[in-house]
Amino acid sequence: RKQQRKKICEMNKIAARYFHKNLYAPEGKKALEYLRGRGIDDRIIKTFGMGFAKDGWDHLMKLLAEKGYTKQDMQAAGLIKMSEGKSYDMFRNRAMIPIINAFGDIIGFGGRVMDDGVPKYLNSPETAAFNKSRNLYNLNLIRRQKNLSHLILVEGYMDVIALFSYGIPECVATLGTALTQDQARMMKRYTDHVYISYDGDAAGQKATLRALGILSQEGIETRVVVIPDGQDPDEYLKKYGRDGYIKLMKTSLPEMDYRFGVTAAKYELSDSHQKEKFAKECANLLKKVESAVTKEKYAKKLSDMTGYSPESILQDAGGLRRETE
Ligand code: ATP
Ligand code: MN
Ligand code: MN
Ligand code: MN
Repeated sequence: RKQQRKKICEMNKIAARYFHKNLYAPEGKKALEYLRGRGIDDRIIKTFGMGFAKDGWDHLMKLLAEKGYTKQDMQAAGLIKMSEGKSYDMFRNRAMIPIINAFGDIIGFGGRVMDDGVPKYLNSPETAAFNKSRNLYNLNLIRRQKNLSHLILVEGYMDVIALFSYGIPECVATLGTALTQDQARMMKRYTDHVYISYDGDAAGQKATLRALGILSQEGIETRVVVIPDGQDPDEYLKKYGRDGYIKLMKTSLPEMDYRFGVTAAKYELSDSHQKEKFAKECANLLKKVESAVTKEKYAKKLSDMTGYSPESILQDAGGLRRETE
């Protein structure tokens, strides 16, 4: 198995070099233009090892065959697909982004279409080398940074790449999959302060609520960076620059404040019945707060929002002590 992993990473390395070279070949012109159009310059391309998979069914397959790899090898690496006796390159006509683990091994790829085609991204399948729930994008660059005071958790490749370009390299991405406990544990090795900076759309909000629970289970202190108008970090940075994003980080919300806000948005607080439901739901959220001081603080806050007394709210929240599960 270890042998197989090594082989897959070797093949991926060959593929990544090939993709990178293609980007600067005449066929790669439109991919290079696509990346440049997104503000990605040659330095960033090099840092992230980006490339281009040419259009066609067997460019990579031929190259790997020349190097002595079998089709079974290529399929095991997720670089080719086989169906009904036919085999073909998995990545065709896409801008390519290698996924590199903390040891510097290329464990998979993401390939982006350069227009509105679907799927927008094609990611390598799970292989012996690529365990999606046990990896985070950008770990290879994070690893070099000593004493991280925090990490920023984002959704996508381009969010990491944009943050890096704007001089905010302390970030990782889950690449569209839901954050796992394993990933939270990995982050904990680097820091116990995490900013969740998912997309400002409904999906991002849902994923944020989930991530809050998972990160807090690892004892990580979280803050939520709320991005307006459904934008993602990449889009926000391009509009408002580094300073704009840093400002947004400064106004990021602690877990409970974010949860209260999301809950408040579900209810019409001028309606007394709905307000009651809101207060009960928030009191329920408060149950898991550990510190009595923090609990009191939020009970007061809820009291200000609803007019109920902090005492009743605290009582519904199980008193000043944390409710044991
Ligand atoms: P871009 O900025 O290039 O349009 P994005 O990162 O903003 O992409 P999102 O739709 O926000 O794209 O998705 C977040 C991440 O989820 C992507 O970076 C990618 O890793 C993953 N993803 C998105 N769409 C797909 C898909 N169709 N198949 C597999 N993974 C996907
Ligand atoms: Mn998204
Ligand atoms: Mn996005
Ligand atoms: Mn985006």
